Amino acid sequence: MSDRPLLMIPGPIEISPAVQAATGIAPPSHVSPAFIEGFGSALASMRAVWQADDRALPFAVPGGGTLAMEAAATNLVAPGERAVVASTGYFGDRMAEMLRRRGADVVLVPSAIGDAPTLAAVGQALATAPTKALFVTHVDTSTGVCVDPAPLAALAREHGALSCFDGVCATAGETFDMAGWGADVYLTASQKAIGLPAGLALWVASERALAAREALSVPPPLTLDWQAWRPIMEAYLAGKPSYFSTPPTTLAWALRTGLDEILAGGATPAAAMQARFALHSRSAEAMRAGWTALGLTAVPVTRQQTAHTLSALWLPDGADASLPSRIAAHGVIVAGGLHPEIRTRYFRVGHMGDVLNHPDRLLTTVRAVGLGLRDAGVTVDVDGAVAATAERLGAA
Ligand code: PMP
Repeated sequence: MSDRPLLMIPGPIEISPAVQAATGIAPPSHVSPAFIEGFGSALASMRAVWQADDRALPFAVPGGGTLAMEAAATNLVAPGERAVVASTGYFGDRMAEMLRRRGADVVLVPSAIGDAPTLAAVGQALATAPTKALFVTHVDTSTGVCVDPAPLAALAREHGALSCFDGVCATAGETFDMAGWGADVYLTASQKAIGLPAGLALWVASERALAAREALSVPPPLTLDWQAWRPIMEAYLAGKPSYFSTPPTTLAWALRTGLDEILAGGATPAAAMQARFALHSRSAEAMRAGWTALGLTAVPVTRQQTAHTLSALWLPDGADASLPSRIAAHGVIVAGGLHPEIRTRYFRVGHMGDVLNHPDRLLTTVRAVGLGLRDAGVTVDVDGAVAATAERLGAA
């Protein structure tokens, strides 16, 4: 065990040594040639990681996932326009609240905890009246539910609506093919599967989404306005500096490093992303084998809807909300509950990004969870659970 605990919450996450080193450089000027080249390259890499086409525009601005969500809500939808939110938990509900504050006519398609709205229910909501945009959370971090964005993006197009996916707990960890699926906005934050410290709001907007902003009747607040940021991103992509609000130069540097690492995982960007998604999927299966051996069950109601980037697990009989601190006593930090309706009844373990390149750390995590359960008085076979995970990881 190293001298510091292993951070296995669903973001911020453990970052790679190269990204860590990149965050330690002397702060670059936003107009220095090296920074211009580096930021431009990071933006171009975002297109590759998002699997977006060249007409789609990447944005990297200071902020987080919440800011990226609010920017999407206010750039796509004007007051009075209709928006459909297919919610799978806390973050879908947050998006609905942002849209309500924007003055939109919001239709929430809810789901039971651990479940997702059916395509039929979303289709019905879209069919009822002309809708400007459909908003969906790719992985809702409060429930661990992952939706399949492909049919939802297609459904939105069928009904003449834009589609926006919150990928904060998914981007670069769960399969997403922005161009192939015809999705219009895919947004994230730097501290999750992208593998950076917190501080950057990241999104790619399709040509359709950019046109929708241009045609918007009521502009968004200036700091959230895609139109204010657009010339900046276009300038850096073209190898020129530009200013609207000072870019987070150190984080932009780290972004370049992190995305380069992701894209080095294959001979082509598409192959690298395939490999990256497969790594997340394989690792999640292995973690699940450990959880099952510990007698734990997942909050998502089906395997198909279970995220690969985190596990949301019900507390077993005998354990209570003190479990994360019992686990921390064994050197691994996991998260408690977030969804208000079940907050004290479950806990969450993140497994995304660089940590997946270190099977020993995944085994350490399963062991710590097992030991925490044992300390809580639950009868568990800790060695058996670690062995089950190791076997799936091919690390036995
Ligand atoms: N959406 C999802 C799915 C998230 O998991 C989070 C953060 N946990 C957010 C949005 C908000 O991101 P941030 O905390 O960076 O504002």
